[in-house]
Amino acid sequence: MMSPMTSIEDLIGYAREQGAAGYDIDEVRLCACAGCGGRVFGLRGDLARRAARRDCRGCAGTHVIAAGAGHFPDDEVTLLGCDCGSDDFNLAVGFALGERRDTVRALAVTSRCVECGRLGFWDDWLVPDAGTALLDLA
Ligand SMILES: [Zn+2]
Ligand SMILES: [Zn+2]
Repeated sequence: MMSPMTSIEDLIGYAREQGAAGYDIDEVRLCACAGCGGRVFGLRGDLARRAARRDCRGCAGTHVIAAGAGHFPDDEVTLLGCDCGSDDFNLAVGFALGERRDTVRALAVTSRCVECGRLGFWDDWLVPDAGTALLDLA
């Protein structure tokens, strides 16, 4: 195993630089498992439904990022994989807030491969009518 070229802090900076659906990022949340506190996940996404689910590698808990689509059959979604062959990632969600900063208008999901350290952009989408409670659902 080679030594990763980036850190979790690099992922946070990367997420901040990416923007979301054309908006600047106001807040970045590093994903952490509510069950065990783990920060390594598999990521499955359904681009058509604008939804992404993270699967904790520490406890097998699953979480749909920012309360997207509820039902999430494994065989209908894409599993994120790195070019190095790993599918274990740190994840960070960048949020673009509304002008009064009391709503979320867009978000972007970014990743860091824990094997090789490669930073990646998964997807971004507009969020209609969402409050800032969404920040706690990264
Ligand atoms: Zn966990
Ligand atoms: Zn990798």
